[in-house]
Amino acid sequence: MTNSALRPAIFLDRDGTLNVDVGYLHAIEQLKLYPWTGDALRLLKRAGYLLVVVSNQAGIAQGMIAPGFVEEAHAEMLRRVRDSGGDLDALYYCPHHPRGAVKELATDCRCRKPRPGMIEDAARDLGIDVSRSWTVGDKWLDVQLGQAAGTRSILVRTGWGADQEKQRPERQTVDAICDNLIHATSIILGAPSPKSPLLS
Ligand SMILES: [Mg+2]
Ligand SMILES: [Zn+2]
Repeated sequence: MTNSALRPAIFLDRDGTLNVDVGYLHAIEQLKLYPWTGDALRLLKRAGYLLVVVSNQAGIAQGMIAPGFVEEAHAEMLRRVRDSGGDLDALYYCPHHPRGAVKELATDCRCRKPRPGMIEDAARDLGIDVSRSWTVGDKWLDVQLGQAAGTRSILVRTGWGADQEKQRPERQTVDAICDNLIHATSIILGAPSPKSPLLS
């Protein structure tokens, strides 16, 4: 019995990976997708990957982002991604922070990256084979998220990525470091599958 019914996914960080990182995104006018984001998502989708955004949004727990704004921003992001030929299957975010100002969100949760809660939830909700999946982001925390969940991982140099590359934690591994999401896409599409019969 294999996991053939399960599908592979790309777990995508949001700010600095899909769109320009403006700090705490709190107004729709600040939402700027990179020019290659739609194309990258279209190519990944066509290759059979589910596309899942996983984003820490501690600004909600800090009281810096209005409740509901993240949902509004994600609806707008989805609209723009689809307008540019791409797609997203689901968007997950963690609204918590251990020292948050909003009492009910001030918790040491299981979903704040690099903890794997969002990927675990998505895998259960959507039927994902994490061993054939990838996590892409502009911080080591995204790479660590992927590793905690059992995916391969790519650090992109957009957003914080170029700085992060220079401040690599000791013994931190990663499958690839590349310029941006479209480059990450070419790496993913060219990589042999870990389940390929040719390799087993
Ligand atoms: Mg980021
Ligand atoms: Zn959380």
